[in-house]
Amino acid sequence: MTDAPLFPRVTLIGLGLIGSSLARGIQQLGLAGELVATDASPEVRARAKEIKLADRIADDNASAVTDSDLIISCVPVGRAGDVAQSIAPHLKPGTIISDVGSVKASVFAAMSEHLPDNVHFIPAHPVAGTENSGPDSGFAELFMNRWCILTPPDGADAAAVEKLSALWSALGANVEIMGAAHHDLVLAVTSHLPHLIAYTIVGTADELEDVTRSEVLKFSAGGFRDFTRIAASDPTMWRDVFLTNKDAVLEMLGAFQEDLSKLTRAIRRGDGETLFEHFTRTRAIRRGIVSIGQDEAAADFGRKHAALKKK
Ligand code: NAP
Repeated sequence: MTDAPLFPRVTLIGLGLIGSSLARGIQQLGLAGELVATDASPEVRARAKEIKLADRIADDNASAVTDSDLIISCVPVGRAGDVAQSIAPHLKPGTIISDVGSVKASVFAAMSEHLPDNVHFIPAHPVAGTENSGPDSGFAELFMNRWCILTPPDGADAAAVEKLSALWSALGANVEIMGAAHHDLVLAVTSHLPHLIAYTIVGTADELEDVTRSEVLKFSAGGFRDFTRIAASDPTMWRDVFLTNKDAVLEMLGAFQEDLSKLTRAIRRGDGETLFEHFTRTRAIRRGIVSIGQDEAAADFGRKHAALKKK
């Protein structure tokens, strides 16, 4: 537990995987004097009350943000504009507004259209997740040793950026700052395209003849199993990601299709040298990811946070 809370009052809107992980981390580390939370779904609000995800569960977004010092929207990116519209008339001047959306440029446009000039809007994206959704799926260690990318607009208040960075650092994340458009391009190749490929290949396997399909499941450890985990990710969230990061995803998909054609040609021509060279290069990339601590056997689960471990 830290000595003094970073913020007197924090509000979380949306209590799925990310919102409920934030709620658990903020509570366990004492980062808010008071934590208020809400969700559009009455079932989720009832469950959040039951498992005490916050000091107070509000019935709607407007009443949740009253007098709040930091508000984090944790809803699918397609709903970000609705959230901003619902809270805009109820914000106190100087409040920090943030989000956790996987796409940044479109979320910034959708939210800033509604927000008043006297608040600090600092978008963020914790690059951490699992394929699970809902208030029971979160855990305080989710952000440990993962990146959280902040995309403050030009001229953003430095103190507000600093305070938001302090929150993510306290949760165990490494904070990086970049422009929203650059974020969307980077994430298109590191996250959005891999999800699209996983959704495609699992769908392809599902359309095979019955007998082959049962063998796909039986022998899934040969690579397919990892794709099925990614392809189990939340359909609403990922539909919104592809709709809102369309240009960057299409650009990366074009590059991917060119590379796939090169490998297809090498296989057709029996060109082992091209295949071997390609696989050697990609193996080095994997080793680089492991060496900078961005993967481990336990994946996103089971990491220990020094402060959380004490509890
Ligand atoms: P989730 O588990 O699907 O939960 C989202 C919750 O927000 C749902 O309970 C939903 O209620 C609620 N909600 C939707 N619209 C709302 C509104 N207007 N006001 C209040 N509540 C609303 O989602 P998640 O996986 O935590 O993702 C949340 C955000 O984090 C997304 O923007 C996503 O891009 C980002 N993100 C996700 C991951 C990941 O791996 N999951 C990683 C990094 C970032 P209903 O179901 O009733 O609509």
